[in-house]
Amino acid sequence: MNEEKGRTELEDLGEFGLIKRLTDGRKNVNESSVLGVGDDAAVIGTGKKLSLLTTDLLVEGVHFDMSYVPLKHLGYKALVVNLSDIYAMNGTPEQITVSIAVSNRFSVEALEEIYSGIYLACEKYKVDLVGGDTSSSTSGLMISISALGTVDKKDLVRRSGAKEHDLLVVSGDLGAAYMGLQLLEREKAVFLEDQNIQPDLGSNDYILERQLKPEARKDIIERFKAQELLPTSMIDISDGLASEVIHLCKSSNVGCHVYDEKLPIDPSTYQMAVDFNMDPTTCALNGGEDYELLFTIDQKDIDKVKGDPNLTIIGHITNKEKGMYLIDKHDGAHTLTAQGWDQFLKKELQG
Ligand code: ADP
Ligand code: MG
Repeated sequence: MNEEKGRTELEDLGEFGLIKRLTDGRKNVNESSVLGVGDDAAVIGTGKKLSLLTTDLLVEGVHFDMSYVPLKHLGYKALVVNLSDIYAMNGTPEQITVSIAVSNRFSVEALEEIYSGIYLACEKYKVDLVGGDTSSSTSGLMISISALGTVDKKDLVRRSGAKEHDLLVVSGDLGAAYMGLQLLEREKAVFLEDQNIQPDLGSNDYILERQLKPEARKDIIERFKAQELLPTSMIDISDGLASEVIHLCKSSNVGCHVYDEKLPIDPSTYQMAVDFNMDPTTCALNGGEDYELLFTIDQKDIDKVKGDPNLTIIGHITNKEKGMYLIDKHDGAHTLTAQGWDQFLKKELQG
């Protein structure tokens, strides 16, 4: 149809370039569409209470591998990754819809197992499953979950509000989910070589749990409320810290300094990275799937985060012209680059 326009390959654009190409320049026609593409969730409504809407798609072989992901965990994780996007707007998730496409390779019991994980997360995070869609599939399993939440207009936090001198803060620790994945992939490779060798997952519960059964940071949002702390901007970490810092800075039109020595890395993550001959800092920066919250606060609020073991100040916001930098312990500045999961590239590598 578009022969005269030529053909652009998906990998030439990457995930974010593709989204931009497909959505750039569109104007919303409804007053209630407050915020569209470009944040963790869309913001909808005209009153004092706004709705938040987000959706995620998980595809077998791209986002998960059935050979080591237990079905119940898959359901749990599929929901948690959505809720994380609602919390990233400082909102409260309330309803979800679940759509599945499934091949006859799966039994009814297998699907019930996935749903038991979804319902477990529903109970923990107090959300209701209110609908969905079901289809057959010729190529494995796909799960798409949409989450609907609410936020008071005055509490809404976007990616775009960071300003010069704000502090950059991250919850929890980074890189563990990625190391969990490395461990699972290694043991899978060993098993495929020799099926008599049973997987040796050792005592690596923490990194495995971070990969297989992540949690969304409901507690951090509740804490903001209790402390009357309103971040100036926020994003959740799905693709890796570096990628999300860049999104946040670009949306806010600012630069930043991130200090590599400040990055919170659990000792077990650190040790596993060393065992794999990887640089722990690189894993924390680019690993992805941490589902922690990255946010900025005004300097006057520093006492509200200082000393909290769940929160780490990792840098500060600068003028846009100063650029986005990672500062090493010798004060060397390196341009921050994102090597986060690019699903297109990953698929390409898998052939
Ligand atoms: P997140 O990692 O927070 O889930 P994504 O990186 O998936 O966010 O998406 C970034 C933004 O682009 C979001 O606002 C999302 O709604 C939007 N988006 C992603 N894919 C599409 C698409 N195919 N069409 C329209 N908007 C999209
Ligand atoms: Mg997000």
